[in-house]
Amino acid sequence: HTGQEIIRARGLSVKKRRTEILHGIDLVLEAGSLTAIVGANGAGKTTLIQALAGVVPPPRGQVTVDGIDPGVASPRDLAARVGFVFQNPEHQFIAHTVFDELAHGLRLRQVPDAEITVRVDDMLTRFGLAHKAEVHPFLLSGGEKRRLSVGTALITRPRVLALDEPTFGQDRARAAELLDLLQELRTEGTTIVIVTHDLQLVAEHASHVVVLAGGRVRASGPTSTLFQDERLLADAGLCL
Ligand code: ATP
Repeated sequence: HTGQEIIRARGLSVKKRRTEILHGIDLVLEAGSLTAIVGANGAGKTTLIQALAGVVPPPRGQVTVDGIDPGVASPRDLAARVGFVFQNPEHQFIAHTVFDELAHGLRLRQVPDAEITVRVDDMLTRFGLAHKAEVHPFLLSGGEKRRLSVGTALITRPRVLALDEPTFGQDRARAAELLDLLQELRTEGTTIVIVTHDLQLVAEHASHVVVLAGGRVRASGPTSTLFQDERLLADAGLCL
């Protein structure tokens, strides 16, 4: 699918409280890409990924996901297009068991019970959580929580999966495991966008990079091109 656009932002500005945090972002994400949003602390990375996923209030400017405008789409329509994984997975847990956590998005969409069971069981197996189906999500280990949050975002089969700092607080081995999973999803046709501080991870895994500085896009393009420009990275407060 590479080459086709899946997310487009035009003149995207976002305020939180009274402060404008993103100033006129223009951006295109290619279908099938794994795009990493990088930048110094406070550059606006979290705000940007949330705006792209429709998690923050309607911004100024325009974002289209797969041709639809999140400001206009119903939350359900949007969730079907972009799955969002918070930096702290616990922020998104609402159910009392792992099974119900996964089933929730499907129940909201009135998927028949028999199909819910099949899809949840598939997801439990895929994420190595089958033996934890009846456990409370808060009792999982850190890695299990992360996998559950990804599974919850994926179960409605969104076209785009957006993850804020997916490897935060995880050791190298676990981070690598998660990245393998993201690459696998990508080969199945899901577009991935992440925020991360880990430039080594970006160099190894991301096809595209967006460099943010002060709420503006400083540069964006293929990782192989951008990461040759040490000056650009240094200017954005980053070092490889
Ligand atoms: P970090 O790498 O430190 O997580 P970031 O690049 O993800 O930062 P954001 O979290 O998007 O940046 O925040 C961008 C700026 O907006 C920061 O200066 C932050 O202090 C400010 N900000 C974030 N949320 C709010 C809010 N609710 N109200 C006011 N200012 C906010």
